[in-house]
Amino acid sequence: QFIVIEGLEGAGKSSAIALVRDFIEKHTGQAPVCTREPGGTPLAEKMRDLVKIADETDPLCDEAECLIFYAARAQLIANVIKPALAEGQWVLGDRHNLSSLAYQGGGRGLMPLVSAISDATLKGFKPDLTLYLDIDPKLGLARAASRGELDRIEVQEIAFFNRARETFLSYADNDDSIMIIDASQSLAEVHKDIIAVLQNQAW
Ligand code: C5P
Repeated sequence: QFIVIEGLEGAGKSSAIALVRDFIEKHTGQAPVCTREPGGTPLAEKMRDLVKIADETDPLCDEAECLIFYAARAQLIANVIKPALAEGQWVLGDRHNLSSLAYQGGGRGLMPLVSAISDATLKGFKPDLTLYLDIDPKLGLARAASRGELDRIEVQEIAFFNRARETFLSYADNDDSIMIIDASQSLAEVHKDIIAVLQNQAW
């Protein structure tokens, strides 16, 4: 099984990942292979760094950013995710393709490009289950700020995150494998909802 956690900044992805990792370990008796995107293989992590080192002398254009993310994802799928699934291991992803559709497609307005590259590179490969932690960007960014994390987040207008959220929600509405979790609730309630979704799966 390939399970992915998605969500905007401050939605609580990290604690959800820890919770799902524990669930998988108890359920299968084995720790899942954990990935993060962009990154997750030595080469893909270098691609992640490429996005970070761009500066004003040579700013990364939106199209290049998008292509780098897909190059990293193709690498991760080929060398980590598919081999692990083929061996019968479970894979737990911190972000996957839905992030590109939401941030680069919805947020940056590149949907025709993102959608075309997504179809061409993934060829139908997708997670068995995606948990999308839904939060109003204002609340999410306030949470991230209260943890002192805003300096690592690229400066974006709130409208960027609102567009990304709309895109996450519209994909979730049209795909039964994407479950929306209300991440504005208390941590205990969010975790209860996640466990309920996991227990409801036919595995
Ligand atoms: O996963 P993490 O919370 O570390 O991601 C940090 C930020 O990276 C996101 O809030 C988003 O602004 C950006 N990102 C992006 N496109 C992606 C994945 C992440 O712009 N495909």
